[in-house]
Amino acid sequence: MYYDLVVVGGGPAGLAAAEEAKKNGAGSVLIIERDKELGGILNQCIHSGFGLHVFKEQLSGPEYAQRFIDRLEGTGIEVKTDTMVLGITPEKSVYAISAAEGYMKIDAGAIVLAMGCRERTRGAIAIPGERPSGIFTAGAAQKYINMDGYMVGKKVLILGSGDIGLIMARRMTLEGAEVKAVVELMPYSNGLKRNIAQCLDDYGIPLYLSHTVTDIKGENGRLSKVIVSKVNGYDPIPGTEIEFDVDTLLLSVGLVPENELSRSAGVVLDKRTNGAIVDETMMTSIPGIFACGNVLHVHDLVDFVTHESERAGKAAAEYLKAQREGTEKEEAEAPIELHNGDFIGYTVPQKVTVSKVDKFIEVLFRVRAVLNNATVVVKAGDKVLMSKKHEQMLPAEMEKLIIPKKMLEMAEGKDIEIAVVKEGEE
Ligand SMILES: Cc1cc2nc3c(=O)[nH]c(=O)nc-3n(C[C@H](O)[C@H](O)[C@H](O)COP(=O)(O)OP(=O)(O)OC[C@H]3O[C@@H](n4cnc5c(N)ncnc54)[C@H](O)[C@@H]3O)c2cc1C
Repeated sequence: MYYDLVVVGGGPAGLAAAEEAKKNGAGSVLIIERDKELGGILNQCIHSGFGLHVFKEQLSGPEYAQRFIDRLEGTGIEVKTDTMVLGITPEKSVYAISAAEGYMKIDAGAIVLAMGCRERTRGAIAIPGERPSGIFTAGAAQKYINMDGYMVGKKVLILGSGDIGLIMARRMTLEGAEVKAVVELMPYSNGLKRNIAQCLDDYGIPLYLSHTVTDIKGENGRLSKVIVSKVNGYDPIPGTEIEFDVDTLLLSVGLVPENELSRSAGVVLDKRTNGAIVDETMMTSIPGIFACGNVLHVHDLVDFVTHESERAGKAAAEYLKAQREGTEKEEAEAPIELHNGDFIGYTVPQKVTVSKVDKFIEVLFRVRAVLNNATVVVKAGDKVLMSKKHEQMLPAEMEKLIIPKKMLEMAEGKDIEIAVVKEGEE
């Protein structure tokens, strides 16, 4: 079996990449999705708030996904659902399995990795205490409630104030549960501001910043108490314990890009994002293998996933065209790297080949602290290429920086550093 392009994962990233690749002449395109239907994590996100940038309207997750699924019709893009990709090789062979077709090897001209991410569990963050039932990751609880029709508990504590935790605080309340509190290790919330207002403040749910779970107790096999302590940095402060009588603990303690397939193919990963290192076309360290969406870095807004994945899809089509026509250029120059300066957590892309840039590159980044009235400065050595003032930047909200090609050329082949300078330090 051969396809010009195989897209692994049929969530919003895979759907946008496949559509854009096809539009740009990619030839035969196949999406492989392990779930029964396309749409990815959006299928369980029945709240609204999706699509404000792409469609300029508020959609629910399934509505947003459906717009892309509908657009597949008539494009000739093929889809295999209920099919799990088991392995990928650097030569771009894809090994997959399904009940309907059994084990299959599919050779591809190019591959887009769009496998999304998974949630950190209790084990991953080593919460001490007993091991009763009633402890769920927030996303798993969301699936039980929104898709399978099971209520997971009545008296609830949520650890982690990222968007999934906040959304689930509201969801559990609307379903009749009592959400006692949301507890957050950091001194700030990791969720979008609008979600704090709409999911906690509107329902009077308290948020305990700089607190964490320090003990878990069960009765008759079910969770009965969660002990929460104030922290100094990451260390619990003795004597600050608060007891919550709850039967359910939801964990919203981080997402990890699903890169087992990428790693086994030999794709070079970035420790900061846990995703692939990519260039300005979203191409990984293996020519012809691209990555986008949550498998590349964790996004808070699906609209950004769509834009990034369209870029990956278009670039995959261009790669295939160059292969077909034998016009792939010898590397004109070594790519320059984008380094993280003060307060920058990561950037995507991590490298750029300036001669291949059309007009500008779009750099997505996250800061490592809450920063007010700060300036993002782009430098090559001592030369400041550009700077941009921001009223506020939060670790929870991904930032976007457009760097015009002429600024990149001014770097004269030197690596670029992106840093934040706080007011008064310039
Ligand atoms: C609870 C929650 C609330 C959110 N709220 C908002 C919001 O209000 N607004 C907003 O804009 N965004 C929101 N988001 C973010 C948005 O949903 C995600 O950023 C987006 O869904 C990521 O898209 P993706 O395609 O990269 O990943 P996913 O949607 O996770 O899709 C990845 C797909 O790949 C498949 N896959 C993985 N491995 C394999 C394999 N080996 N073989 C075959 N298939 C595979 C998976 O089954 C999955 O379908 C929310 C996310 C969550 C979890």
